[in-house]
Amino acid sequence: MENAVEPTPTPRRSPAVEAHDVTVTYDRLREKDTLIALKDFSIEIEHGEFLAIVGPSGCGKSTFLNVVAGLTFPSAGDIRVMGKPVTGPETDRAVVFQDYALLPWRTTEQNVRFGLEMQRRIDSETKDKVQHYIKMVGLEGFERAYPRELSGGMRQRVGLARALVTEPRLLLMDEPFAAVDAMTREVMQDELARIVSETGQAIVFITHSVDEAITLADRIAVVTNRPGRIREILEVDIPRPRSRASRNLTEFQELRDRIWGLLSDDPAKAVAPLIDVPSVGEPRTTESTEVEPPR
Ligand code: ADP
Repeated sequence: MENAVEPTPTPRRSPAVEAHDVTVTYDRLREKDTLIALKDFSIEIEHGEFLAIVGPSGCGKSTFLNVVAGLTFPSAGDIRVMGKPVTGPETDRAVVFQDYALLPWRTTEQNVRFGLEMQRRIDSETKDKVQHYIKMVGLEGFERAYPRELSGGMRQRVGLARALVTEPRLLLMDEPFAAVDAMTREVMQDELARIVSETGQAIVFITHSVDEAITLADRIAVVTNRPGRIREILEVDIPRPRSRASRNLTEFQELRDRIWGLLSDDPAKAVAPLIDVPSVGEPRTTESTEVEPPR
């Protein structure tokens, strides 16, 4: 068949995030040196994927999140979101911060609305949208409360609603539950899992807690000590919904041990010992295990 037409290949949809050999350096004026925060950091994150990043304190996790958010720029490498090079913040991304970053003089409703104000997207649907996301995060009845009248967990719900109201394709979360108590944290994890199953955006979630990462993520990127590089990316093949009881599953415990193994035999650790991890063989509980900086 001489004149057969080649079938047109279906164009591959770009991943939500593509980072290739991203290097970030900070010039430190006081120390008069240059700190390499990330080195040749490469990862692809698919649409709708929940990616958790775990690694020792100071390994560059927040730096990576800021690069994706368009707030920090790499000195080398390529970073794309939704197929486009990152040149600054865009409306397709929203960040949820650890310290909530709420405006204290604004009510819940006004703080959530602020997400849309920042993007100049106030219109006739704003009121309904704000109410929809307030309800989604479980804050109905607290629309007129000020941040000082809310608990830490409730403040973080406001922060989450403010991000969700913009309907981002990518949600960037920097240790969002680090400042809330352990019980609230568990509740917030369940809530987040439920919300993202409804909203379906891609998520980059930074955490110090290995258990939190396993509970929430589709994949977990384990990052080496500074300069941060991807040590390994692990699939979390544990059925959802994952509850506290999931932590007793053999798969959960094996994955936890594997991640701890990667963190504790990090070759870079010898150079910059910044984490406090249990030694291999030390008994581990089924309680939350945290990667914390030394005191
Ligand atoms: P992580 O989120 O993993 O704790 P960060 O990305 O916050 O790590 O920081 C990585 C390294 O870069 C740390 O050593 C930190 O002190 C340094 N760093 C972060 N931001 C700056 C900055 N603006 N100027 C200088 N050094 C910075």
